[in-house]
Amino acid sequence: MAASSLSRCCYFGHHGTFARMQMRCSRKASSLWVNGSSPCKMTTKIIRPLTRTMLKPPTSHSLAKRSLHATQLHLQEVMLTSERYGVQRLPFARVSDADLSFFECLMPGRVVTDVDELKLFNVDWLKSVRGCSKVLLKPQTTVEVSEILRYCNERNLAVNPQGGNTGLVGGSVPVFDEIILSTALMNQVISFDTVSGILVCQAGCILENLNNYLEELDFIMPLDLGAKGSCHIGGNVATNAGGLRLLRYGSLRGTVLGLEVVLADGSLLNCLTSLRKDNTGYDLKQLFIGSEGTLGIITAVSILCPRKPKAVNLAFLGCPSFSQVLQTFTTCKGMLGEILSAYEFMDSECMKLVERHLTLTSPVADSPFCVLIETSGSNSTHDEEKLSHFLEHVMASNLVIAGTLASEDTKIKALWALRERITEALTCDGAVYKYDISLPVERLYDLVTDMRERLGRSAKNVVGYGHLGDGNLHLNITAESYSHSLLDAIEPYVYEWTSKYQGSISAEHGLGFKKKHYIHYSKSQEAVLLMQQFKTMLDPKGILNPYKMLPAKTT
Ligand SMILES: Cc1cc2nc3c(=O)[nH]c(=O)nc-3n(C[C@H](O)[C@H](O)[C@H](O)COP(=O)(O)OP(=O)(O)OC[C@H]3O[C@@H](n4cnc5c(N)ncnc54)[C@H](O)[C@@H]3O)c2cc1C
Repeated sequence: MAASSLSRCCYFGHHGTFARMQMRCSRKASSLWVNGSSPCKMTTKIIRPLTRTMLKPPTSHSLAKRSLHATQLHLQEVMLTSERYGVQRLPFARVSDADLSFFECLMPGRVVTDVDELKLFNVDWLKSVRGCSKVLLKPQTTVEVSEILRYCNERNLAVNPQGGNTGLVGGSVPVFDEIILSTALMNQVISFDTVSGILVCQAGCILENLNNYLEELDFIMPLDLGAKGSCHIGGNVATNAGGLRLLRYGSLRGTVLGLEVVLADGSLLNCLTSLRKDNTGYDLKQLFIGSEGTLGIITAVSILCPRKPKAVNLAFLGCPSFSQVLQTFTTCKGMLGEILSAYEFMDSECMKLVERHLTLTSPVADSPFCVLIETSGSNSTHDEEKLSHFLEHVMASNLVIAGTLASEDTKIKALWALRERITEALTCDGAVYKYDISLPVERLYDLVTDMRERLGRSAKNVVGYGHLGDGNLHLNITAESYSHSLLDAIEPYVYEWTSKYQGSISAEHGLGFKKKHYIHYSKSQEAVLLMQQFKTMLDPKGILNPYKMLPAKTT
């Protein structure tokens, strides 16, 4: 069958009675159907790709007196982390004029001390934590990173590695006056092998730029996330970012083949191999994946990239309940199999926020739940036929009540924006309490309903969305302003709940500064102790990203 005259079967009807109709549509067209209405045109606005400007959240007002794991978007100035959380500065040296001269000599013109310029690098994306670093260094080469760390280690100066500063757990900005080492100028592709699909690049390459570069060569990056326009590949590896393609291409623990890392004393660990198989001893690179800048600075990455799929289709569907969301997932795993590349879910509260704050329009506005299903394959006719059969089935079995399809790039991007920009919409809604949890999928939404009931009117919105295909829930709670009583109602309840069902309190954002004290809800005492021992071995003076990821040793 010619792709341009592909026949799709859709069901729509009244009051649960489905009338079957054959809808002929072009491969490039998108269509929308709702049970109880006739097919109509998709109304979603087309959104520009995420840029650094778009990622910038609004400013915030009033201050909390003690630790609140929420954003402060209405604050004029974000409260200093050290004051907000009552942290004691560790006995690191303070940056002197002689230190600045050394850095200036090492990298002329790339040592930033201007107070205004530094502001952006001292505050996190959520505007929830703020440090007071007096110096930002912008190395361009591994040798420069090595020289910086060798010097800082000798001088006992603390260093905060920073990529795109899109981290959501307060790991990317200093707590006190740590030197910020930005990878922004380490943005060169070193090599790309079109036979193996292996990309080797510096750590400061922006994820979206890498993807654009690869697309020209018919490849893509194996990961994708809402922050792609700003986050760096080094930051992605340091946080072991998950994102939207993990379901299909797996975690960075599988796709990263090699790393080049500068250790705290300035020595270089070259594990930058491009081998898919290498069983010669311990796999040291794994130690640095997800280490959040506490064990070394990643300077280059070797990563396996998949071919750019020839046919991408996206279905944005409405489900009547979470149980149907789950059944649709198991059905689509069975029926779409190898072409399934993403399965995301969002509750209707998320969609309302995206509509209210970003003026985007959900094509299935009245559905209690939305799911976004992406297929990526090499044969459009085959993929579309599979998708048609699947949609026919889920509509007929009442798992799905409405939906829209897209196979054209701009429309696919517009639909993805509804999912990717939820984080941004939440920041416009007030104070946000963010939780990023792994749970058995069947339990995933129970936590949201439970929390909604528990918090009642003390919360403005309690929303749930996430990478359902990976068992990953983003639970977000918004309120008009910060309140200790609200925080006390959420924590540690949310962590206890997660632990009770053997979940993880951080599925993909890491622990950073904000969650380090809760590590015990997901890791045993022995595991935490071993992590602390690794830290001591690799960074005996503790200069790398202090106050982050691990609680201080108790003995
Ligand atoms: C809109 C939005 C959507 C997001 N979606 C997702 C998502 O789907 N999945 C997900 O996992 N995360 C997501 N995030 C979180 C964030 O984007 C990721 O954690 C990302 O990987 C951070 O990369 P970055 O370059 O911004 O790192 P930064 O924020 O700069 O740093 C993060 C941590 O890594 C360390 N670090 C950075 N670079 C290096 C380096 N070269 N060497 C050693 N340590 C380093 C920092 O010290 C810090 O601890 C999202 C964030 C936003 C704002």
